[in-house]
Amino acid sequence: MSQAETTDGWHQVGPQTYVLATGTYLLNAGLIVGSARAAVVDTGAGPRHGLAILDAVRSMTQLPLVVINTHAHFDHFFGNAVFAADGVEEFWSHEAAVAGISAGESQRHFVAEPEPEMAAATGKTTALVVPNRTVGADCVTLELGDRSVELFHLGRGHTDNDLLAAAGPVVFTGDLIEEGADPAFEDAYPREWVQTLEQLARLQHRYDIFVPGHGRPVGIDHVRVQASTMSRAIRIATQAKREAPADTTKAIPIMPYAPVQARELMGRLRSGA
Ligand SMILES: [Zn+2]
Repeated sequence: MSQAETTDGWHQVGPQTYVLATGTYLLNAGLIVGSARAAVVDTGAGPRHGLAILDAVRSMTQLPLVVINTHAHFDHFFGNAVFAADGVEEFWSHEAAVAGISAGESQRHFVAEPEPEMAAATGKTTALVVPNRTVGADCVTLELGDRSVELFHLGRGHTDNDLLAAAGPVVFTGDLIEEGADPAFEDAYPREWVQTLEQLARLQHRYDIFVPGHGRPVGIDHVRVQASTMSRAIRIATQAKREAPADTTKAIPIMPYAPVQARELMGRLRSGA
């Protein structure tokens, strides 16, 4: 999918809607610019990453910002304190993300290499900033002035708190969609994830461009393929369990995912998720 690239690394994916592919964890940050304020989607894995994203945002707009966290995984919200220090007052997430982000201390060890200050909880802007605005079952419209962002939840999937953010023909999906890597199942609800993706695919009349949490923006076909591949993986895993309950590892080589993800998926299915 081709997009115009701005001089500072942002790709325009829709009207006043941009994606920044960052180097850390290949995280995509999003930016939607209205006439009164702008929305930032995901803030990075700590103060270094967050500041790089904020600097890139500030090269595009000086408007007041609002932050959206797509879910409670460290690479998507550990940069919140950088944005709070820049004056951001509204932090949005799904209501179930609040508990995960509040308990974010347990995720600090993941970022020891790219974000030593965040890992050690020392230095500036390393506090956990928990969203103070939440979305539940009902869609919320964020008005940015001459442009708006729809925030909504389609069901559990990559986590129990995946929030989607749509602006015009573009929808930011967080890690519900993966591009260039297998889906990550550590906190996932695999069967519900398939349904959530199928529901997202049904919104094709509304959206053309799906921005994953990591990797390149994709079209509707990618959403459908991810749903059918996941459905097939669940079928293989379920059949393996039926045929050889004591040794389901035999299914790993025939799963449509790399061994790590295949094992995580089977573990989640075993635990009843
Ligand atoms: Zn994630």
